[in-house]
Amino acid sequence: MSRIYDRVALIGLGLIAGSMAHAMRKGGLAGEIVGTARSPETRAVAAEIGLVDRVVATAAEAVQDADLVVLAVPVGAMGAVAAEIGPHLKPGATLTDVGSVKRAVIDAVAPHVPRGVHFIPAHPLAGTEHSGPRAGFAELFRNRWCLIVPTDGSDPAAVAKLRALWEAMGSHVDEMDADHHDLVLAVTSHAPHLIAYTMVGVADDMKRVTDSEVIKYSAAGFRDFTRIAASDPTMWRDVFLTNKDATLEILGRFTEELFALQRAIRTGDGQLLHDYFTRTRAIRRGIIEAGQDTAAPDFGRGAVSR
Ligand code: NAP
Repeated sequence: MSRIYDRVALIGLGLIAGSMAHAMRKGGLAGEIVGTARSPETRAVAAEIGLVDRVVATAAEAVQDADLVVLAVPVGAMGAVAAEIGPHLKPGATLTDVGSVKRAVIDAVAPHVPRGVHFIPAHPLAGTEHSGPRAGFAELFRNRWCLIVPTDGSDPAAVAKLRALWEAMGSHVDEMDADHHDLVLAVTSHAPHLIAYTMVGVADDMKRVTDSEVIKYSAAGFRDFTRIAASDPTMWRDVFLTNKDATLEILGRFTEELFALQRAIRTGDGQLLHDYFTRTRAIRRGIIEAGQDTAAPDFGRGAVSR
């Protein structure tokens, strides 16, 4: 594998930036990787485990002379970080991010990008419920999609280079418009997370009633919800605050469907329930056929042990 960027700056050293560092090192994709994080604790852990080649104290320092700068902080923090690094970005550099929401990040970051710097937002569709500088691993992006969201006038050569990096880290890459991205992700990720958070919250209330039976006898359905509902609170707070419209649109549709199923249960309409579950089962088959999950009955649990 050959070097794609000479110097890469990672702003934020959590699950995603850490996984990028591991993957870039494994593939020899970057000449030097410089990293920074907000807290001294995270920077100390990153230095201790040798996550990157050089840990520095500030974002402004990290981006000095960097050819690629990756914003890997919560979506709500992107604008402030961009304001800090804007004046220090090297002309000709590429600035990208890995945020789970794209329109809000573009609105927050673009005003701080100087002329001559290529701002190319991206979003790897890969994650676990773990966070922090120890959470990353080189294989996180393997066989997962990364959506690149070029902004107006993005230089095709700079986009191609960023695409090459994600492909070299194991991803399949597609390009998508920001609003479409936010709607698709509201369906595939954001609304499901909110539903999982809600279900686990309901069970937590029940726990008081049933004296922990929901934990003790936790079956596959609930257990899988708890894995999703263990995701980082800051990250997910920011996702819902910044992808508000699309998430509310999908939740509106969700509650309509939920009421329809609730009514079918009340009226004993077994045919409706059976037809509905038959349709949804086919979607699961499609995801397995597309290589985005395995048919193993304990799916998802492999990630927990990481
Ligand atoms: P993470 O493991 O929680 O790491 C977040 C990093 O951002 C930490 O280094 C943290 O520094 C830093 N940070 C937090 N708040 C900050 C602030 N206000 N200002 C500056 N730095 C701040 O998060 P992650 O999972 O890697 O997520 C990073 C980005 O990737 C987010 O935008 C998220 O939406 C996106 N993403 C996440 C996933 C996923 O499943 N986790 C998947 C795809 C994309 P300290 O440690 O010093 O606090």
